[in-house]
Amino acid sequence: MKILLISGHGAGDSGAVSQFGREADETIYMVKEIQKTLSQYAQVDLYPTDRNAYSDAKAGKLAVNFGNYGYVLEVHFNACVNDTKGDGKTTGTEIFVTKAEKTVGVETKIVQAIAAFGLKNRGVKRTNFTVIARAKAAGVSSALLETCFIDDKDDMQIYSSKKAQIAAAVANAIAAQFGLKKSNTAAGSGAQAAEKEIRAGSTVTIKDGAVYGGLSSTRGKAVPKAQRGGKKHTVDKIQTNKGVVEARLTEIKSWVAVTSLTAV
Ligand SMILES: [Zn+2]
Repeated sequence: MKILLISGHGAGDSGAVSQFGREADETIYMVKEIQKTLSQYAQVDLYPTDRNAYSDAKAGKLAVNFGNYGYVLEVHFNACVNDTKGDGKTTGTEIFVTKAEKTVGVETKIVQAIAAFGLKNRGVKRTNFTVIARAKAAGVSSALLETCFIDDKDDMQIYSSKKAQIAAAVANAIAAQFGLKKSNTAAGSGAQAAEKEIRAGSTVTIKDGAVYGGLSSTRGKAVPKAQRGGKKHTVDKIQTNKGVVEARLTEIKSWVAVTSLTAV
């Protein structure tokens, strides 16, 4: 599985700023730390941290093809409570998915993992934010994490003292929910090379959370559990449908995104 991490803001846009930190700096810290742990399980790319994915998406100049990934996580920090003295209560963590997202298992696990450090769990919410909506439109599940409130002293006391552990917990939550196993190969290109290529004639299984592709009315509908798990399918043909590279599976006569398949 390939995962893309995006640090919110940057490239001259500092994001929210308080006496406790700058959002652009902390999001870069978070994505690098999440990558360290998650690279043991999957190929993890960072959106170039010297760029701003939001402006790139708006300008139609994204630096990566979201369709190459199995999951996209954008990291931010929240603001606007202005609790600079600390009132003894955290405002907390929350995560957003698009309105098109079918399941929120991984997002539920991510905020639970962060809340375990003492931050209030504000839950999983839905908003079609620009970057995650662009990823979802490419057929990729995506989420925007608001780690905690950068202008809440109570939040930032916990975050600042535990940030490496919080990032590792986010990585482990993602790995656990996607059922990723530690790979023996080195992170990055090694892990990618170890992944079997999927082409016509390949035998594959369908990952959890997969949706149908193709151009009929079933596009976007969840692939039922009976067709996932260890059930084997044969790839008949590979084709790009609506910008997503998809495989037609012989047995179920249906299209599924190649990023939702595992070669066996
Ligand atoms: Zn932000």
